[in-house]
Amino acid sequence: MTLRLRDDLVHTARRMHDLGLAPGTTGNVSVRTTNGFLVTPSGMTYADLRGDDAVELRADGTGRAGQRTPSSEWRLHRDILAARPDAHAIVHTHSLFCTTVACLRRPIPAIHYMVVLAGGDEIPCADYATFGSPELATQVVRALGPGHACLMANHGMVALGPTLDAALRLAAEVESLASQYWHAAQLGAPHILDRDELARVRHRFAEYGQPKRARRPT
Ligand SMILES: [Zn+2]
Repeated sequence: MTLRLRDDLVHTARRMHDLGLAPGTTGNVSVRTTNGFLVTPSGMTYADLRGDDAVELRADGTGRAGQRTPSSEWRLHRDILAARPDAHAIVHTHSLFCTTVACLRRPIPAIHYMVVLAGGDEIPCADYATFGSPELATQVVRALGPGHACLMANHGMVALGPTLDAALRLAAEVESLASQYWHAAQLGAPHILDRDELARVRHRFAEYGQPKRARRPT
C-alpha cells in the first residue's frame, strides 16, 4: 500500500513540476498514510525523484522513515492533515500567478465562477510567516478554514483534496484563476460575482457531470 502511495506521490510531484507549477526544486506534496503521511524530500530535482525518496512521518511529524530529509514544509503538511480529516493529499507550489497575487497579500476574488471549486466565495491569502516555521503552518490552517485552497503571503499557494490527483488539479485550477485575475486587472477593475450567483454556481456544480451510480439500461 505504502509502496504504491510512494510512486503516486512522486508521479504527482513530477506532474506538478511538468505543469510549470513548481519551478526548480520548489513546491512539495504529501499524502496521508495509515499512521501518518508521506512527503516529498527536501531540495531534490523532480526528474530524479523515485518512490524510495518519499519520506514517511508519523501523524505528529516524528519517526522519520526513509533515507531522505523531508521537505522543509513538513509541518505545514502535518498541521493541515491534522486539522482537516477530509484532506488526504496536499500540494504546495510557488506557481507564478498565485505567488504574484500573494505578494500583494490579496485573496483571489470571484472574478470567475470556477473560484467556488476552492470551497468559498474567494480564495483567501494566509498571513506571512517564515517558510518551514510552525507559525506558517498555523497561518495556513487558519486561512484555509473549511476551504480547499489558499494563497500564502509572499510565498505561494496550497491546495488539498481527497486524492493526490484532486489536489493537483485544484492547484492547477487556482493558478489559472490567479492568472485570469492578474490579466483582467491589467485592463481595469474586474467585476466580482456576488454571493447569490456563487450559490447558483454551487447548485449547478452539484448537478454537473455523470450520475455517480448511473446504470446502463438492461
Ligand atoms: Zn514553499
